Amino acid sequence: MVWAAPVAPSYHRERSVGRAHGRKKAAMFEWSEEHLMIREAVRRFVDEEIRPHVEELEHGDMPPYDILRKMFATFGMDVMARERFKKQIEREKAAAEAVARGEEPPPRKESGGDGGGMTMLPIIELCRVCPGMVTAMGVSMGLTSAAISSKGTIAQKERWVPELLTMEKVGAWAITEPGSGSDAFGSMKSTARRDGDQYILNGSKTFITNGPYADTIVFICKLDEGNPPEERKILSFVLDSGMPGLVQSKPLRKMGMHSSPTGELFLDDVRVGRDRLIGETEDLPAGGRDGAKATFMQERSGVAAMALGIIEECLQLSVQYAKDRVQFGKPIGEFQLIQEKLAKMEVARMNVQNLVFRTLEMGAAGHSMSLAEASAMKLYSARAATEVAMEAVQLFGGNGYMSEFRVEQLARDAKVLQIYAGTDEIQITHIAKDLLRA
Ligand SMILES: Cc1cc2nc3c(=O)[nH]c(=O)nc-3n(C[C@H](O)[C@H](O)[C@H](O)COP(=O)(O)OP(=O)(O)OC[C@H]3O[C@@H](n4cnc5c(N)ncnc54)[C@H](O)[C@@H]3O)c2cc1C
Repeated sequence: MVWAAPVAPSYHRERSVGRAHGRKKAAMFEWSEEHLMIREAVRRFVDEEIRPHVEELEHGDMPPYDILRKMFATFGMDVMARERFKKQIEREKAAAEAVARGEEPPPRKESGGDGGGMTMLPIIELCRVCPGMVTAMGVSMGLTSAAISSKGTIAQKERWVPELLTMEKVGAWAITEPGSGSDAFGSMKSTARRDGDQYILNGSKTFITNGPYADTIVFICKLDEGNPPEERKILSFVLDSGMPGLVQSKPLRKMGMHSSPTGELFLDDVRVGRDRLIGETEDLPAGGRDGAKATFMQERSGVAAMALGIIEECLQLSVQYAKDRVQFGKPIGEFQLIQEKLAKMEVARMNVQNLVFRTLEMGAAGHSMSLAEASAMKLYSARAATEVAMEAVQLFGGNGYMSEFRVEQLARDAKVLQIYAGTDEIQITHIAKDLLRA
């Protein structure tokens, strides 16, 4: 059970971290005025542009991308993303030129702003209504673009990243295969074989978010040099939709997250040049595995914000229902068993919100979480969201089981937070491994 696991507000520790870096940062225990203004604006957008389309999004009649693009345009997120990317590339070019001249590259600015609050707020608000949209958006502009941004050459970044960051193009990040999930690297069968200056790619991937509609796909596979699979290097390639030999399936039918299309990819002798090999080298540090691992970390922190959105919405709907629904001559909110459910939901909301605030403070202070911390946060938040949403269904009784009352959708959507980006069991093994190593 996650209800009882209190997460202490982290502001005392974070305050001293801020000082240690010579920056006096206000402790974050509530959203700032600026955050609240953004939240209101996003909420209005969600009410006007998304809520009226939830049915179509839920039944797969409407892919989520056009609404996401509209959101980007409405809030200037596309323009900001392009500007940030331009500055990043200018910095990287300046650093590369300095290195070529035998000089020290200029120091990298690691931290800044509000640590990502302006990104978290749309995630939270969208998740109150349509968590699948966040999955589709996060995989495209987050995972896929980050996989290219973090290890790609400058030319590769300029070629693929800007349109992913603005959602003009849809991205997919493909590691999972029919026979390899939690043991993603160990059981991986997809291969790249050298053929002169080119590579020939084969394999199949499954459960790939945006797979059916992706324009740009990061395909992770092993370099087959005739050596045993466990010794093969991990390589990542960028593919474009429509390449000969690449087939993208229709969306798979699934339990929840219907507004996030999930599919399969089949590669049959897909021929690519070295320009599509991320980093244009077979010898990335840690054999290419650290790129994929950094992606897991990013996914894990995003899940806490998604969980918070689901929990906030379920709690708000449950409080209202507890006041309105009358049984045995009184509102059900007067029954202690119902009060206990509400109280536990509030505990979960506070804990997950504190985890989100901690992530933001760490980001603002230029710190990143360890794999164990990110795993603990993901484990706790995913369980909390699922339990809160299932308890909301219970509190609503028969109405909770009907889609009209919305908590059933949130309960189905929440469940996958315990499965993707590493299952609960895998988060536990990562936390324990880290604790026992000390
Ligand atoms: C909606 C959705 C979207 C997804 N999107 C993507 C995507 O965009 N890209 C992508 O590459 N993948 C994606 N995935 C795949 C997802 O990451 C995997 O489903 C997940 O990692 C689990 O792998 P698996 O399904 O093969 O389960 P398995 O690994 O087969 O696990 C089965 C069970 O065994 C348990 N288990 C496995 N190993 C251990 C162990 N060592 N100790 C204890 N228990 C263990 C698991 O926790 C689970 O309960 C998505 C999945 C879903 C459902």
